[in-house]
Amino acid sequence: MNIYDSNLMASFLEEDGYIEAQSIEEADVIIVNTCAVREHAVNRVLSRIDSLKGLKKKYPHIRIGVTGCVPQHLKGTLLEKKPFIDFVLGPDNLKRITSSVKDKAGVFVEFTDTALYSEVSPARGKFPEAFVSVMRGCNNFCSYCVVPYTRGKEKSRSIENIVHEVSKLSKRGYKRVILLGQNVNNYNDRGNGLPYLLSIIAKIKSIERIGFLTSHPAYFPLVVIDVMKDEPKIEKSLHLPLQSGSSRILKLMKRNYTKDEYIKIVDKIRDTIEDVTLSTDIVVGFPDEKEKDFTDTINMVKRIGFDSAYMFKYSPRKSTLANTFVDTVKEETKKKRLNELIRVQSEITRNKSESYKGKVLDVLITGENEKNLLESNGITLYNKRVVVKEKLRKGAIVKVRVEEVKGWTPIGVPLKEAIGSKQSGESSHRLLS
Ligand code: SF4
Repeated sequence: MNIYDSNLMASFLEEDGYIEAQSIEEADVIIVNTCAVREHAVNRVLSRIDSLKGLKKKYPHIRIGVTGCVPQHLKGTLLEKKPFIDFVLGPDNLKRITSSVKDKAGVFVEFTDTALYSEVSPARGKFPEAFVSVMRGCNNFCSYCVVPYTRGKEKSRSIENIVHEVSKLSKRGYKRVILLGQNVNNYNDRGNGLPYLLSIIAKIKSIERIGFLTSHPAYFPLVVIDVMKDEPKIEKSLHLPLQSGSSRILKLMKRNYTKDEYIKIVDKIRDTIEDVTLSTDIVVGFPDEKEKDFTDTINMVKRIGFDSAYMFKYSPRKSTLANTFVDTVKEETKKKRLNELIRVQSEITRNKSESYKGKVLDVLITGENEKNLLESNGITLYNKRVVVKEKLRKGAIVKVRVEEVKGWTPIGVPLKEAIGSKQSGESSHRLLS
């Protein structure tokens, strides 16, 4: 979402005649777009901002702005603490970027119900892939999460506006779009939800792959599973944050589902879509997480067998409900649990990756392999990143036979027969006989 917001600001500035600097030294305007989801991210941002102080002293004409969730979270205190910053903008105030870089100093962090930025379509990304925000904000208030306090209430872009942006991407040759929402299942434009949006986007010519993020297990419309199955362009991969494998902790987290309800959704997805891949987010060391709760999480991870997971230690965030809970889990225990979880999940991911050996995959070429410029990087319809041992055109879709797996990455050779612009996706994970 932050990448998308950076693109939004770049679009506003380009429309106003600004051009992107090639290095920080030649820039007249420096904007640090920020994330406040974890304490670690905020600390990194604050030290990054401090590193700009010397530059501002040397070149006082430079305008420095901080945007996104950190200023929304810290409000005016950020300017008080760091007076060399000229302006701060919260996620609902990005439109002010053009006036702020010119001369408007100050703090702009008020929420609006209308900041959907329909007037610009960034339509950019790391070719041939692009993020497209379809909604902003979140109404859920999970007890550990700062997002509803920094991004405000849920609001959906209109289908017409999203189609306009994706069509623009299609004309520019992009092949893969990832539709974004903090809680994308709740997308709602005048009664039309995510399944309808997906089916409309799938009609856009030359867009070949459509992913969507992030699905909340409590509000997952099961009809989405049927759309995923029936529409060949929609990726057979789902990011479904579990957060904890203990129903007791899930309740404290205010996630509105139990461990068993989560398993039910996964079973339904796996029964409907063959070889579907699943990724997740997990937090360990939530206040009052007992050894038994942690064991439940480990058992869930083994039971589900996620293809990959983003795993974190709980980090208290100001304003959230969980910040008022007594944090009984020692830092040392949190670290130990995180290491154990990473160990278990790494083994699962490694085994899953090994199972790709010998398979033929439909791979969208996304760029060159930075480690070997004679090779390409690519991604499957099942959201698995692979390396192809040949330099191929970005945006091409080719069949690749996996010969080996290094770390977690399948590495393969292209088969003669290219898939071109059409693909079934159905045979992607079949073993060659
Ligand atoms: S659904 Fe996601 S973004 Fe919304 S409050 Fe919960 S964790 Fe945060």
